[in-house]
Amino acid sequence: MSAAERVMLKPGDTIGILGGGQLGRMLALAAARLGLKCQVFSPDPDSPAFDVVQYATCAEYADVEALERFATDVDVITYEFENIPSSVATILEARRPVRPNCRILETTQDRLIEKDFVTSLGIPTAPYRAVSSAAELHDAVADLGRPAVLKTRRFGYDGKGQAMIRPGDDLAAIWDNLDTRAAILEGFVPFEREISVIATRGADGQVVSFDVTENDHRNHILKVSRAPAAIADEVAARARAIAETIANALGYVGTLAVEMFVAPSEDGGLQVLVNEIAPRVHNSGHWTLDGASVSQFEQHIRAIAGWPLAPAVRHGTVTMTNLIGDEVHDFPRWLTVPGATVHLYGKREARPGRKMGHVTVVTGGPAPTQS
Ligand code: AMP
Repeated sequence: MSAAERVMLKPGDTIGILGGGQLGRMLALAAARLGLKCQVFSPDPDSPAFDVVQYATCAEYADVEALERFATDVDVITYEFENIPSSVATILEARRPVRPNCRILETTQDRLIEKDFVTSLGIPTAPYRAVSSAAELHDAVADLGRPAVLKTRRFGYDGKGQAMIRPGDDLAAIWDNLDTRAAILEGFVPFEREISVIATRGADGQVVSFDVTENDHRNHILKVSRAPAAIADEVAARARAIAETIANALGYVGTLAVEMFVAPSEDGGLQVLVNEIAPRVHNSGHWTLDGASVSQFEQHIRAIAGWPLAPAVRHGTVTMTNLIGDEVHDFPRWLTVPGATVHLYGKREARPGRKMGHVTVVTGGPAPTQS
């Protein structure tokens, strides 16, 4: 099967997953339930995803031979993280279909290109300027005002590669500290809440999104997600439409997450601004494992397998709490909480800030049918 060919997997076929973290693990578990096998590629011998698959490749992403062998062993390739080097993508795409298409990564790996793309669709974002020197930072801050948020264009996550610029801050020092030549300055969004939409686009172009999720971060790391978000139906519909527009515009196949801000608008209403696109399953969609008729992981597997998507029906009011670092040691207590479903990722070392597991609690009856 060549990279460009249509994918239609059958039970017993094998999906290659790049990346061996908890997202890869939960993708592999969802695939197994549908009778599909997974082979995981990861450089880390302690990868949580290795524990749940029969076949694994433990090698560096620079190991061309290992990548080639991995590609020929599988029927379709997907990924659980977005910072895949383009050299890796080229090797894999020459041998097997990669879903979602790696061209998408060129848009989503760079915050400036991503914001230009979102803006080109007529979707609002925070005001932003490209910054490549201390002098440009000075001009951009004069333009956008303070507070503002300076971010590296590439490889930022969980607040890393980011600096808040407040009144009185020394711009030259902040620029030196960020240690990059490619950054973006964003005007600070005085958001009322942070939300995300998890949407899946099938190979046939059908898009199914979950109810909007509301997210609370602690130290820049997601702590709690709630579904549905406490927002008006009209705002939720706008958020879902934004995610669906992005999925279509990217020609996406698989599950993606769009992180957004809900903020006051000048006319006294509320606006929905896109913060970031994650071209993969996402932590804020973990609630769908226990709180919906189909999970974000299963939808992704269905999409990349060329199978029909499921309607996404939420089961009730859902709260997902991440167990971060030492918090995982509290798991015996969570095991006894009525109605709580505990997920542990099997990571040996509970380092600070490391996502070790999550707990989902679903209350209330079935929600009205969602599209
Ligand atoms: P990011 O890495 O872009 O997802 O940013 C991490 C977190 O920083 C977000 O979840 C927000 O809480 C905050 N943040 C990022 N950009 C802005 C912004 N332009 N205005 C206000 N808060 C922001």
